[in-house]
Amino acid sequence: MPDESIAERVAGQQAGSGSGPGCYSCDREAEFDSLPAWESIAVDDHWRVVHAFGVPLPGWLVLVPRRHVTSIAELTDAEAELLGSWQVRLSRALAVVTGCAKTYVAQFAEREGFAHVHFHLVPRAVDLPEPVRGPRVFGLMDGTSLPAEELDRIALRIRSVLDGVEKGSA
Ligand SMILES: [Zn+2]
Repeated sequence: MPDESIAERVAGQQAGSGSGPGCYSCDREAEFDSLPAWESIAVDDHWRVVHAFGVPLPGWLVLVPRRHVTSIAELTDAEAELLGSWQVRLSRALAVVTGCAKTYVAQFAEREGFAHVHFHLVPRAVDLPEPVRGPRVFGLMDGTSLPAEELDRIALRIRSVLDGVEKGSA
């Protein structure tokens, strides 16, 4: 069932926010102090980890730089240095929380309002159906979001694994 608060966020983004096309990630960063857990699962000086919306797959994470960049080539050395460790740490956390066999990583940033660089980290379940494996997993992005409470619940579990509070086998 679509979550209306999330649907409104996306609709607001597509309509643009005032002057010119808005940037979803920068708009969220601007209200950092009031973000729900699922939009601020973990942060450091350069990166913010969020749960994806518009796709009903629990644990589909997105890693975004905290300033506006539209190409990976524009990332600073400091941002680049942390990128790899985030991808690996989040993959380990997803293995613990979702039991996934592995993770997929993808970066496109092509949709209007979403040109801000963002890396998708997708938990690939052991039993993910063959028709949606590999790049076809994006076929699951049907605009349906999990309920915000469910996103927050997953977010808090991932955060506790990252913080070392919850130990896993990974
Ligand atoms: Zn931006």
